[in-house]
Amino acid sequence: MRLIAIDGPAGSGKSTLARALAQHLGLKYLDTGAMYRSVAFAVLRSGGDPEDAEATAAVARAIDLDVGLDYVMVDGVDATVEIRGPQVSQAVSVVAANPEVRAELVSRQREWANRQGGGVLEGRDIGTVVFPNAELKVYLTADPAERARRRAKEATGLDYEAVAADIARRDAVDTTRTADPLTEASDAVVVDTTGLTIDEVVVAIGALLDNACEGEA
Ligand code: C5P
Repeated sequence: MRLIAIDGPAGSGKSTLARALAQHLGLKYLDTGAMYRSVAFAVLRSGGDPEDAEATAAVARAIDLDVGLDYVMVDGVDATVEIRGPQVSQAVSVVAANPEVRAELVSRQREWANRQGGGVLEGRDIGTVVFPNAELKVYLTADPAERARRRAKEATGLDYEAVAADIARRDAVDTTRTADPLTEASDAVVVDTTGLTIDEVVVAIGALLDNACEGEA
């Protein structure tokens, strides 16, 4: 089973790289951030408090999730746009710091990969926790100001300052939480994408994979 892990903070270029690699390798792609966002969405939608750890974990266990390439359905509701909005972005880090939520979603991510016979997964803990034996682990990083600029360019309806503040807050929570904090795996290929176009990153990682395959042949 071919497994590729792409980790890193918000705006580092994970999604573009993961999607391009999945297409290049003929593998399925999974955005695990969308799963944490979906749990936050479901909690908020039911009027719940994301800080209520037990109730949030119960939502995670019960949720009917369908995360596709271009859509996200949560309990039969199209949440594609709303999971990227400011309310969910505000709530998601506390939801993702909940160990029971993580246990549930990690187990669903492993099941997903087993069903597909492998895949390209992007997130924060794929190479460290979900698939520590992945064939390739990439850890993308970039200067925080550059990451905020990239995110602000996407259609979030937020200005640069708001995006920069959201990213800084999520980085802080994601890297300091007790359960599976964001950190690079010791055997990850670390790429600082500041000043690189995403095409340059895709070409570099694609070449690395192709060379590894030739080395095995
Ligand atoms: O990737 P994205 O920015 O959409 O992820 C949203 C949030 O989900 C992150 O800030 C992080 O708190 C959480 N997350 C996580 N583990 C993952 C993927 C995302 O904790 N594997």
